[in-house]
Amino acid sequence: MNYYKVLGVEKNASQDEIKKAFRKLAHKYHPDKKGGDEKKFKEINEAYQVLSDINKRKQYDQFGSSFNQGAPGGGAGFSGFSGFEGFSNGFHNVNQEDFEFDLGDIFSDFFGGGRAKRAKRGRDIEVDIEIDFIDMMTGIEKTIRLSRNVVCPRCSGSGAEPGARMIICPVCNGRGKIEQIKNTIFGSIRTQSVCPRCKGEGKIPEKKCTQCKGVGVIKDIEEIKVKIPAGINNNETIKISGKGEAIKGGLAGDCYVNIHIRPNIKFKRVDYNLETTKQIKLSQAILGDKIEIETPLERVRMKIPSGTQSGREFILRGKGIPYLRGFGKGNLIVKIIVKIPDKLTFKQKRLIKEIREEGL
Ligand SMILES: [Zn+2]
Ligand SMILES: [Zn+2]
Repeated sequence: MNYYKVLGVEKNASQDEIKKAFRKLAHKYHPDKKGGDEKKFKEINEAYQVLSDINKRKQYDQFGSSFNQGAPGGGAGFSGFSGFEGFSNGFHNVNQEDFEFDLGDIFSDFFGGGRAKRAKRGRDIEVDIEIDFIDMMTGIEKTIRLSRNVVCPRCSGSGAEPGARMIICPVCNGRGKIEQIKNTIFGSIRTQSVCPRCKGEGKIPEKKCTQCKGVGVIKDIEEIKVKIPAGINNNETIKISGKGEAIKGGLAGDCYVNIHIRPNIKFKRVDYNLETTKQIKLSQAILGDKIEIETPLERVRMKIPSGTQSGREFILRGKGIPYLRGFGKGNLIVKIIVKIPDKLTFKQKRLIKEIREEGL
């Protein structure tokens, strides 16, 4: 496609001429207008998106129209043209001063038709649960109560009373769409929207389902079990597909469970490692000892070598947090703090003084 030809301008046209040409053509071919042409309108918009942008225009001049066809090395910056949405977004880049009204208004109607074709999906729901630090270490199954819309069991979501006849929608006469006329700078524009009565189906049941009143879904409270894997981190989320709000004629949304872990004063999590501190006596630091260390799940014995300095860290391998993905666990890092006594008995003081005599 030759963008200059599409807009009917010379290759050396000024930005002003390009803008003018675009406005004239967009006005003429707007698809909601009588004599409009959707395909042409799209081409015009595409051409304008490139030529109105000095950088894109330069690239286009250099690489030609093939640039937009997904030619190797091309494509950058041109990806927004495929669907109507990119097209609509493109319009918002147009300076508002070029137009005396908000283009978005018309285009939202026009492009709305395209969006409606997407599968309908119910809303997602979010739940917060709090678990203990120890439960995080082992993994746990929790039961949560969800209050949500579920498919109506009486009508299986159709909204029709079982056995009811389907009749043609009286609002849209079975077309599923209704038309509206809007007056704009482009003249009178016909816009189409989905029929609010039959939701585009063209038919309605003669009698609505008595349980859901025709909505197709009902409120329900459901208990579901959530498996929380060991090693999960604070504020991580578990997705439970299909447990969001159900919706008539579409898929249910998803349920997101946010996990909050109650903090533990003894252990600090750093990635999959845990950090803790352990106080030892002066004599233990000097002479060495075997001490007991509390890990989150058990007590283990650890050797303190003689001459251990305060602040020294020991690593207990595999005593940290289970890896969320894969096997194994992180480590427990034990920082030793040597307790210097601040109150001494008479005898202790005498002995320390004796040590001092020995030059320590
Ligand atoms: Zn209808
Ligand atoms: Zn029902």
